[in-house]
Amino acid sequence: MNHIPFLVIGAGPYSIATAAYAKSLGVETLVVGKPLDFWKMNMPRGMFLRSGPDWHLDARDVHTFETFVKMRQAAVPAAKLAQHEIRPVPLDTFLDYASWFMGQYDVTTHNAYVTHLAKENDEYVATLDDGEKIRAQNVLLGLGFTFFKHAPRELVEKLPPGSYTHTCDAVDLEFYRGKRVLLVGGRQSAFEWAALMNEKGAEEIHLTHRHATPKFTEPDWSWVQPMARRALSDHAWWRNLRPDEQENIRHDFWATGRLILEQWLDARVHQPNIHIHEKTNIVAVNAHADKTLQESQGKLFDVLLDDGAQFNVHHIILATGYKPNMQNVAFLDRATLRDSLGTVDGFPALDTEFQTNHKNLYITGLAATHAFGPFFGFTVACPVAAKIIGDTVGGKRVANA
Ligand SMILES: Cc1cc2nc3c(=O)[nH]c(=O)nc-3n(C[C@H](O)[C@H](O)[C@H](O)COP(=O)(O)OP(=O)(O)OC[C@H]3O[C@@H](n4cnc5c(N)ncnc54)[C@H](O)[C@@H]3O)c2cc1C
Repeated sequence: MNHIPFLVIGAGPYSIATAAYAKSLGVETLVVGKPLDFWKMNMPRGMFLRSGPDWHLDARDVHTFETFVKMRQAAVPAAKLAQHEIRPVPLDTFLDYASWFMGQYDVTTHNAYVTHLAKENDEYVATLDDGEKIRAQNVLLGLGFTFFKHAPRELVEKLPPGSYTHTCDAVDLEFYRGKRVLLVGGRQSAFEWAALMNEKGAEEIHLTHRHATPKFTEPDWSWVQPMARRALSDHAWWRNLRPDEQENIRHDFWATGRLILEQWLDARVHQPNIHIHEKTNIVAVNAHADKTLQESQGKLFDVLLDDGAQFNVHHIILATGYKPNMQNVAFLDRATLRDSLGTVDGFPALDTEFQTNHKNLYITGLAATHAFGPFFGFTVACPVAAKIIGDTVGGKRVANA
């Protein structure tokens, strides 16, 4: 069995940022996971990022996204520069940056998944899907979004079994060519999926959301990075805010992220075959009664909205977001970890160093937003979490030397 001081589970932005920083401190670190696979497997090709190149992964602020972009642009002839335009940032450009960043810090990954993690005495034992076992003193869970798909119960109760898919499982948009689709949700991902599906040749797309359709405008994210970085000088900054102060910041973040749609989507979704049903709820969805039509067209579902709109679709896609609940993380051993993990409303309870109530077990990213603020659900806070966790794990190593 391999024995390692620092095991990082997951290979998304938060994990590789922390692994890079820990390695730079001389901490022997092993990352288990497939690099950026949520971005490669659960986001559609052709997607653009909402964030700009000013958000990066490096706790040392050296190998930044902007440095990468400048370096890449310098390598192309001026005539081709327009093709390397990065506003908005294409998904592939971010993936290239992440891969380059890993190279700068010599971060490699063991390309496997952890199927079981248990606590044994004061250490952790991970079992991988390739059969390997790893014993570790410190473990970071960089779980990201995969375990936390959210589908509101009151919505799902109205949908026939097998009629719906979450956006993160509906990324092969070619599949929807010639089909009619209902997207449930009214935020950026619902609209971006609609635009991309239309461009891939979907026949008809409906969007339903309970609220008014947000405005298409350029969001101002400039305040987010300085605020996310406050945790660097005061790890307890977020938790020491009054509840109303936290609420105001959450609201401002929500207003920037969710109450605005990117301007570059506007013309792409205002198309004759895209129907936006704002301020509507689904009343009922039933499998189409006409069996002969079903046979010729594949499965069909009749949809009735509360504004009286009726139409039928082949697929329903839930753009209903993500909500952490640590009980969903099935690979955590129930007896030694999961049942005894301290939580608040499904989120892990974390100390000011991202440590859970299980000593030397750390959790970062979206699951840490309750303890550290909403920024930790986005890449903007990768360097912050990396520095705090890396210094803590690295500091212990020095103390133990
Ligand atoms: C549609 C969409 C668009 C987004 N756009 C932006 C944007 O423009 N800008 C931005 O900053 N953020 C954006 N986000 C948020 C973005 O996903 C997060 O900022 C980022 O992914 C968080 O990184 P992470 O490392 O925490 O999680 P993830 O990227 O989700 O990575 C976690 C990784 O852990 C792996 N993993 C989980 N369990 C195991 C296991 N047992 N063994 C091994 N590996 C495991 C997963 O496979 C996954 O690859 C977007 C999210 C979505 C859904």
